[in-house]
Amino acid sequence: MVSANIRKILEEIPPHVKLVAVSKTKPVELIQEAYETGQRAFGENKVQEMVGKYEQLPKDIEWHLIGHLQSNKVKYIAPFVHLIHAVDSLKLLEVINREAAKNNRVIKCLLQFHIAQEETKFGLDMDEARALLNSDSFKSMENVSIEGVMGMASFTEEEAQIRKEFRVLKSFFEEIKSEIRNSKSEISVLSFGMSGDYKIAIEEGSNMIRVGSSIFGGR
Ligand SMILES: *Cc1c(COP(=O)(O)O)cnc(C)c1O
Repeated sequence: MVSANIRKILEEIPPHVKLVAVSKTKPVELIQEAYETGQRAFGENKVQEMVGKYEQLPKDIEWHLIGHLQSNKVKYIAPFVHLIHAVDSLKLLEVINREAAKNNRVIKCLLQFHIAQEETKFGLDMDEARALLNSDSFKSMENVSIEGVMGMASFTEEEAQIRKEFRVLKSFFEEIKSEIRNSKSEISVLSFGMSGDYKIAIEEGSNMIRVGSSIFGGR
């Protein structure tokens, strides 16, 4: 099932769009099955769960931390994490930079933006992002690389609303791209679109989709 689902999605999406298979709550056996299909990028939202799976599974897997990250947990994933999608404060970025330095790494990050109507979802607005990017602290960081933006649309059936939110995120991406012009960051990633809305997301410019239930089944 898992491999058939992955193949079906890969057939549908254009080659420039990267598929992150969201494996949160799912057992390592199912991740292994996806791995054998050729899938290498997996998304998890809990640090402890990601570390446990990292230890049990092949080392060429790219682990994407897609959920809210607490500063005191960065140290557990700093040695191996491939991309942190949900950076939403300067303080968190400072900790990631420090832990990355301890591991002699540059950790790739995305800025998470709040684009949905719901109050509960984490993320920056454009003013906060601008302040972060223009801070002396950010400018002195040598062990993080901001690669792009991430966001989640409202949980709604209304396609027009979802499109509108994705367009806002795309405009933030363009703005950030013009804001940061230096060697340590290569702004190219637009991480938006999940099982329910990835087709709309790709139409609106996403190049990284995070798909869970359409691959692994409901949670
Ligand atoms: C769970 C999750 C996904 C995947 O959701 P599905 O609807 O199962 O595809 C994507 N992004 C984030 C941040 C998530 O927490």
